[in-house]
Amino acid sequence: MPEVNSNYLSLQKSYLFTDIAHRVAAYKKAHPDQKVISLGIGDVTKPLAPAIIEALHAAVDEMGNAEHFHGYGPEQGYGFLREAVVREYMARGVSIAPDEVFIGDGAKSDLGNFQELFSEQAVVAVTDPVYPVYVDTNVMAGRAGAPLAGGSFERIVYLPCVRENDFVPDFPAKAPDIVYICSPNNPTGTVLGREALAAWVHYARKNGCVILFDAAYESYIVDKDIPHSIYEIEGAQDVAVEFRSYSKVAGFTGLRCSATVVPHSLKVGDGRGGRIELNGLWNRRQCTKYNGCPYIVQRAAQAVHSPVGRSQVMKQVHGYLENAKALREGMQALGLEVYGGVNAPYIWVRTPNNVDSWGFFEHLLNNAQLVCTPGVGFGKSGEGYVRLTAFGTPEDTAQAIERLKSLQL
Ligand code: PLP
Repeated sequence: MPEVNSNYLSLQKSYLFTDIAHRVAAYKKAHPDQKVISLGIGDVTKPLAPAIIEALHAAVDEMGNAEHFHGYGPEQGYGFLREAVVREYMARGVSIAPDEVFIGDGAKSDLGNFQELFSEQAVVAVTDPVYPVYVDTNVMAGRAGAPLAGGSFERIVYLPCVRENDFVPDFPAKAPDIVYICSPNNPTGTVLGREALAAWVHYARKNGCVILFDAAYESYIVDKDIPHSIYEIEGAQDVAVEFRSYSKVAGFTGLRCSATVVPHSLKVGDGRGGRIELNGLWNRRQCTKYNGCPYIVQRAAQAVHSPVGRSQVMKQVHGYLENAKALREGMQALGLEVYGGVNAPYIWVRTPNNVDSWGFFEHLLNNAQLVCTPGVGFGKSGEGYVRLTAFGTPEDTAQAIERLKSLQL
């Protein structure tokens, strides 16, 4: 009988969203006449923009025609999409070659899979609170060490991001091999400014670290000074991989498409005293384990880069940002400390009166019929915060704000 990969047994059970669902179900059962509004969802609610639908229809028609049918595509993605990504970088003054761009089926898969390229001994650092995929995929690979009380892992380095450090991770005492950085951040909704990002690039260059930079929410950046890409920082191409997604900019959460950039100049030790490009290894990994994002989806993603498509999807993004602004102001009007929600669809609220995350969750549910996500579910440093998302409909968001007005803390 085979035995399981015991690393999977070290994974923390993901109780957070199940726990929330149970508590909400119990509340609804006890109060069947009350409408509960979720400010906890991480999925988008707006439908695909017309330019994307048009591109999808056209691509579907091609697939039904022997002359234009597409079977297996290039594992790295079609040239038309890789080149569209390159042009978008160019518009920000960043020079990337098409063969440094890999089209995938979502940033979650690429972020989850990329760690495979590193040795089991590599030391991984994550910010705390954190998007759980970074941690769990390293646990599965046997890189995280033993689980500790409170949900952390012995070999993972946690970099607290809290109000005391303006949500900018401090450098750890001992340099890790790999650092995951996400800006704009899920869950805190905060961003890293140019200086902070440049300091991390400098640190990585000095200490031989690789930065895995998650830019899934870059389209939500409105402040002119905030970098959309880590490659806007000089020297970053030698130390960073960047993960981009079509999910939150264009509603591709169901279609699935991403772009991951692995610069040729990024090299790591080959274990034999030499250095090796991660680009070639990622290419090899994708060719062996992945058969490419569907043609019709890549045509849809191409439409996101067209002038018409771009303007349509950015209108949606600004709609979500309007929700974020309203939620921020609603919470501030209650006298609460609020972070994020300016360059991101997430709002990170400090709980009042030293109530813990779950306590404030219950308070919002019982007194305003609003569902949030307890911050502690994203890591120890999330305790004392809750996360609200701006992905609801404008109607639900407006109703949520009305309810907040009469909330007693
Ligand atoms: N990265 C972060 C920080 C996210 O919050 C999410 C999704 O919620 C993703 C990546 C995944 O994006 P995708 O839908 O492209 O897999």
